[in-house]
Amino acid sequence: MPELPEVEALRSFLDQHLTGATIARTELLAFSALKTFQLPLSALHGGEVAEVKRFGKFIAIDVSGTWLVFHLARAGWLTWKDAMPTKPARPGRSPLSLRVVLDDGSGFDLTEMGTQRKLAVYVVGELSEVPGVVTLGPDPLADAFDSDALATILAKAGRSQLKGVLRDQRVIAGIGNAYSDEILHAAKLSPFKPANGLSAEEHERLFAAIKNELGDAISRSVGRAAKELKGEKKIGLRVHGRTGEPCDVCGTTIAEVSFADSSLQYCPTCQTGGKALADRRLSKLLK
Ligand SMILES: [Zn+2]
Repeated sequence: MPELPEVEALRSFLDQHLTGATIARTELLAFSALKTFQLPLSALHGGEVAEVKRFGKFIAIDVSGTWLVFHLARAGWLTWKDAMPTKPARPGRSPLSLRVVLDDGSGFDLTEMGTQRKLAVYVVGELSEVPGVVTLGPDPLADAFDSDALATILAKAGRSQLKGVLRDQRVIAGIGNAYSDEILHAAKLSPFKPANGLSAEEHERLFAAIKNELGDAISRSVGRAAKELKGEKKIGLRVHGRTGEPCDVCGTTIAEVSFADSSLQYCPTCQTGGKALADRRLSKLLK
């Protein structure tokens, strides 16, 4: 799933390629992807792109005052094409969900792999009409997100576990499963530690890790073409998705905890004082 750094890189890429361009046509192949009904996609046709913004993991394109907003979810992606096919795409098993074609023939496809349909597209007059955008917490890379802002968030989260707090879009915008693992590894904190149970030193480590992990990932990603971003994300991750590999800080084998539809990775030496965290799925099976 693309998270804040990849979405920011996509935003920057789209801003360069779309700003000033006119949208010629759109093709919606996955009808369930369009979540709004007041304005049709054709409201964008003939409009000029003024700017491309990011809100958490959402991208919002200002087309002559109407917004085209999308969220790629777990299996969605964006593909840029310098020359779009002139014939309409055929519906069917293709992963193509939405095609946006500019008047110079270039454009982008939003695709979604797999059977779960989570990719979401909105056409709205006001960004406040997109529920996931309205409820977003603060952006962790904004200047206003300082150590005190994090302290307020953690106090409010009470005994909730850090892993869940970092991933909650209503609390902090843009961090998902991968970067929450990376941040907690860099901060040397257990994913299950209660949010309000950090010492002053742990708090500063967490704050620095949020800024550094996301900032570093952005500097690796921004400026790259859309098609390079997935690979770049994987190379940059030090603990997420690396179960069984040695931790690059201490050499301990990276462990994981599995849940129904996801898993987290951590280093037992760096993060949990050598203790293995209970794997809930496994312990259930063993009972
Ligand atoms: Zn380690």
